[in-house]
Amino acid sequence: MHYIVISGGVMSGLGKGTITSSLAHLLKYSGLNVSIMKIDPYLNYDAGTMNPYQHGEVFVLDDGSEVDLDLGNYERYLDCDLSGENNITTGKVYKEVIERERRGEYLGNTVQIIPHVTNEIKRRIREVGNKHDLDVLLIEIGGTVGDIESMPFLEAIRELKRESPPNSVIMCHVTLIPEIGPNMEQKTKPTQHSVNTLRGIGIQPDIIFCRLKGQLSLESRKKIAAFTDVLEEGVIGISDTRNLYSLPEQMHDQGILNYMEKLLGYEKLKFNNPLSEFNANIDNPREKVRIAIVGKYTVLQDAYMSHKEAFVHVTGNTGIAVDIKWLDSDSLKEDQRELNDVDGILIPGGFGYRGVEGKIIAARYAREHNIPIVGICLGFQVMTIEFARNVLGLNGANSTEFDPSTENPVIDLLPEQIGKHDKGGTMRLGSKDVIVKEGTLAMSLYKEKLIRERHRHRYEVNPAYMEKFHEMGFIFSGTDIEGVRMEICELKGRKNYLAAQYHSEFKSRPLRPSPMHRFLVEMALDRKKEMMMSEGDIESTQ
Ligand code: GLN
Repeated sequence: MHYIVISGGVMSGLGKGTITSSLAHLLKYSGLNVSIMKIDPYLNYDAGTMNPYQHGEVFVLDDGSEVDLDLGNYERYLDCDLSGENNITTGKVYKEVIERERRGEYLGNTVQIIPHVTNEIKRRIREVGNKHDLDVLLIEIGGTVGDIESMPFLEAIRELKRESPPNSVIMCHVTLIPEIGPNMEQKTKPTQHSVNTLRGIGIQPDIIFCRLKGQLSLESRKKIAAFTDVLEEGVIGISDTRNLYSLPEQMHDQGILNYMEKLLGYEKLKFNNPLSEFNANIDNPREKVRIAIVGKYTVLQDAYMSHKEAFVHVTGNTGIAVDIKWLDSDSLKEDQRELNDVDGILIPGGFGYRGVEGKIIAARYAREHNIPIVGICLGFQVMTIEFARNVLGLNGANSTEFDPSTENPVIDLLPEQIGKHDKGGTMRLGSKDVIVKEGTLAMSLYKEKLIRERHRHRYEVNPAYMEKFHEMGFIFSGTDIEGVRMEICELKGRKNYLAAQYHSEFKSRPLRPSPMHRFLVEMALDRKKEMMMSEGDIESTQ
């Protein structure tokens, strides 16, 4: 069993999560049993209460854990389901240590970062490593070396290495190579400094991933190797690429697998890339559609990371490229023409009232102009509210999240939420069964009566209004097992209008794209072709 630890240097935002995922992918599809865990040095217990504006999307796992968005990348690149134990935070570690101290388990000793906190970190790492009969556990350490917050974790890794058999803990360090001047000269100094900082903590890297725009030159590689004591074959360039699923191939082309064989003591690892055809479709798509994502966190697109990825998965499987138009929902209040040039609309999840009226406008526009639309979570709720207001004529229909005293609470608090005050980890979270009704549009997508999808919500469709919706052709074509929680909705006679209370984007995988996203893209292409044909008709009659 080996540990491969990935730390970051120079600055944040170098794509450490994607590099970690790509390395894991390469090892898994070379025949090894691989998993990944993420260490987030922040004090929050988990990502659940974090603002997507600051940190990007909150990702949800099957077991209901709310985790860093990198876990989403791990699941996508490894095609596996992870659990909460794969994400350690300072908050989780300290909570455990303090609770143990309160129970008197430290027998009167002074509780300290070394050894008590570092021991707890190692315990958690080893637990994941031992539980799943792994060949390799990759551990990504969030933040940048030198941050105060990440110190205890790096110290724990140093101890882990010292306490493990030789060569069983491999260290990787991700750095930036700036390219400056008219000749794009590659500069290695920031890498040298960053490796020095790492060595100051007692950690010598075995591999350095150098993030840069172009190709890492031989000269830079030699220089980095000379200054950092890493073998030349362990200095790997990570060049900018449009398709991040091609990164494992990029690493492979630089001979990393041969080097890994030596480091890990394996013979003849051979990479069988399951994504060759997938990548070819992304590199050379045959069609293209434009989809608006109508949200309120659109300035930070990482807030919708899994939606972006789900669309990439659709492209890899269908050859239909998706050009995403990021639309701030508030802007639609003044000008709906922003929706004129799109082939489809996605209304994603969200919290709080800001932006909701704009989303309602988008939902109405899609319904009235026959534009393909998919709503997810808040998007589902918004489409329900829009229909209630504008078709059922229910005055001021709303969610009690936005208007607690609305006369028509078509979206209301889940019964089990009443009386809950804590915000962290208290929503309806994680994988739940959904029953898909026969003979519906939803069934034509899923082709299965029972599906399991991931959830993250506090509010739901108020069952008291169900009959009214059904009478007017607004069908709830998916429910929970008891039939009281509405999970999917669609419109009678409409082939391109669909929404789900669950987050289908969280389970989208490269070779198994989210059915909802695939549906939206295919319907968007249909509509684009129809529009082109009718424009052609107009021209030919002129
Ligand atoms: N705010 C809504 C709720 O809590 C929707 C949540 C979401 O979109 N994830 O039910």
